[in-house]
Amino acid sequence: MTDDNEKRLAGLVENLPEGVDCALIFSPENRFYFTGFNASDGVLIAGANGCVFLTDSRYTEAAQRCVTACDVRLLKKLSQELPGELKAFGYGCAAIEAQHTSISELKKIKEILPGFRFETEALDGIINDLRTVKSDGEKELIVLAQRCAERAFEHILGFIKPGVTEREIALELDYHMLKDGAQGISFETIAVSGKNSSMPHGVPSDKRIENGDFVTMDFGAVIGGYHSDMTRTVAVGAVSDEQRHVYDTVLEAQLAAISAVRDGVSCVDADAAARDVIKSAGFGEFFGHGTGHGVGIEIHEQPRVSYTSDEILHCGNVVTVEPGIYLPGRFGVRIEDMVSVTADGCENLTLAPKQLIVL
Ligand code: ZN
Ligand code: ZN
Repeated sequence: MTDDNEKRLAGLVENLPEGVDCALIFSPENRFYFTGFNASDGVLIAGANGCVFLTDSRYTEAAQRCVTACDVRLLKKLSQELPGELKAFGYGCAAIEAQHTSISELKKIKEILPGFRFETEALDGIINDLRTVKSDGEKELIVLAQRCAERAFEHILGFIKPGVTEREIALELDYHMLKDGAQGISFETIAVSGKNSSMPHGVPSDKRIENGDFVTMDFGAVIGGYHSDMTRTVAVGAVSDEQRHVYDTVLEAQLAAISAVRDGVSCVDADAAARDVIKSAGFGEFFGHGTGHGVGIEIHEQPRVSYTSDEILHCGNVVTVEPGIYLPGRFGVRIEDMVSVTADGCENLTLAPKQLIVL
């Protein structure tokens, strides 16, 4: 990922607006994106005259070994090192990550740097444009994370049976992914069944699985700092005609949205491809959330594949496609894959089967 980091830093510096000398990057996820190093504390200074990553003594040695895209120096106290570093580079105006900086943090930075100028409008957009287009290296890590989740899914099919609880299913998925090499889980694993499956982001409970239940599992692994995200709904025992009809409708909607995803397509249109199928089957009011979201260093990134989005899909975006139908107090179905946008369509990064599995 070394070359990637250098390219990203160069891309950032190139895109800084006229009159802005450097970017000051404080958020851990963006620092990781540009340096390849994960630290809870530090600041990255990036400008045309040079870049440096300042981090505290807990991380300095490891960071000096890992980071090749820029120099790494010890950060003891921000008010001590930051003014000197900026002065040495000759920087007088910095872009700040508005989305990641609280009002009190900005106040503190301004106090440390009297007379310094700040730009707070541009940086989030510049970084977002870089981060939403995944390199081959980033895509490989997302795929590795996805394969790890898929092995857990295969395992869980033999674990789910009447009598096991939702919590046990969620824990078993987590345990399998972590034992299998995941550095973490992408988010709190969702495993909901029967009536609980009508809540899109329900919390796994001590409810036991019963014959006739749908079980919806939404989960992912983190590998090399990158997340995966998948959802599958399986049935236990037998399904009613209505359950099968709802499942088939969600699957049809999901396939329609995957067919619509392509470079240049608006997120609204990709969302509508799924939503129209669900609407015309009469379930429109039971699909409230957006169709998908970007995935990468964070589990929810841009672009948002939603009816409220003003974004356009571009080659290299990795997004989820996850429509659902949720019948309150009865049952719900969601099916989620991750796809990588290409010039003439998309590559599905998810290999797990989608035809209804009845256990
Ligand atoms: Zn998910
Ligand atoms: Zn998702």
